[in-house]
Amino acid sequence: MTTTEMFRLLCERLDTYQEQVIELQRQLVSRVALGPEVGGVGETAKAAFLTDLLQSWGLKVHHYPAPDTRVPAGERPNLVVYLPGQSSEKVWVLSHLDVVPPGDLTLWDSDPFTLRVDGDRLYGRGTEDDHHGIVMSLLAVKACLDLKITPPRTIALALVADEETGNDKGLAYLLREHGQLFSPEDLIIVPDAGSQDGTMIEVAEKSILWLKLTLMGKQSHASRPHKAKNTLRAAAHVIVALDGLQREFPLQNPLFRPPMSTFEPTKKEANVPNINTIPGRGVFYLDCRVLPDYDLEQVKARIQAIATEAAGKLGVTVAVEPVQWLPSAPPTAPEAPVVKALQQAVRRVYGREAIPQGIGGGTVAAFFRQRGLPAAVWMTANDGAHQPNEFCYLSHLIGDAKVLAHIALGAD
Ligand SMILES: [Zn+2]
Repeated sequence: MTTTEMFRLLCERLDTYQEQVIELQRQLVSRVALGPEVGGVGETAKAAFLTDLLQSWGLKVHHYPAPDTRVPAGERPNLVVYLPGQSSEKVWVLSHLDVVPPGDLTLWDSDPFTLRVDGDRLYGRGTEDDHHGIVMSLLAVKACLDLKITPPRTIALALVADEETGNDKGLAYLLREHGQLFSPEDLIIVPDAGSQDGTMIEVAEKSILWLKLTLMGKQSHASRPHKAKNTLRAAAHVIVALDGLQREFPLQNPLFRPPMSTFEPTKKEANVPNINTIPGRGVFYLDCRVLPDYDLEQVKARIQAIATEAAGKLGVTVAVEPVQWLPSAPPTAPEAPVVKALQQAVRRVYGREAIPQGIGGGTVAAFFRQRGLPAAVWMTANDGAHQPNEFCYLSHLIGDAKVLAHIALGAD
């Protein structure tokens, strides 16, 4: 049988999997996999479900748990599964098991952890981020098994923990302790971001810099502001002054969307519990996504200087500490084999031209790239990740499974 014929059969088969997709998403959504940082118990239940399922398909599941005393299981699951191909040349799909919390429940139209099906849309926390990756890769494997097709390339699935809260117990652990699993010759796909038409192949990321700004002033009764140094007012001045960063770091790179570095004030810690006290201490955070051209030390130094000046006018001091410091990894070459294979498959399945691009980062692919493993982030996404009413399209899951099948086959 030619690879073209195999591809046709696999596509036909995948088109019959609607019910299985819904059932799989239903099971995954119901197993809440939150990390301990956000009060969760980890990914054990979801990993156990997937282990049982993959074993029932006759596959061997390799376990690489990362010790973690913060969760009841004492470890965080990382699973690796192979569908052996005609050669040991691998196409990897790395997906993550964990999800982010649902956030404000009043913004959801239905229970985040109960799958809701509405036509082509499957709603629930995790349906897109990152069950999309899990489901589409499982579908491609299942189609090969059902049709007894051995693709030229081995399909390798990595289902990892801890993506949403830093990766230390997930991919970073796998690479640190079991780095031999991956080779620079492998095609590595990370379905964890993408565009609605499936044409974005992410190959580069901005550096990530999260800063904690602690403002120290002087607390006082709200009726006596002359005795106080109000850190909330100072924070407002600092935040406005920091808008100037855009002018100080003006470079643009069209590989990225948006093309410039960004500096966003985000979280603010609670200060005084009552209205009639002027706060004397305030903490807020900045999330900076910086083009690879700039040095993070230099960015931090300017933020410290701008904040000190703006707050200083009100007698308030500012300490600036990094919370996350992730200089961007070397990009995956736009002509890397994994990019070419994705472009060819997207053309064949969706009839569209996919383009290598950079994003505000950071995806888990950075950990591969830091180790010289050229990874491409790709999926047909709809921007619902981390939002209320997160959903994915059933048709995209099946379409993306075809893309993976095409790559495993090395078809034309
Ligand atoms: Zn994700």
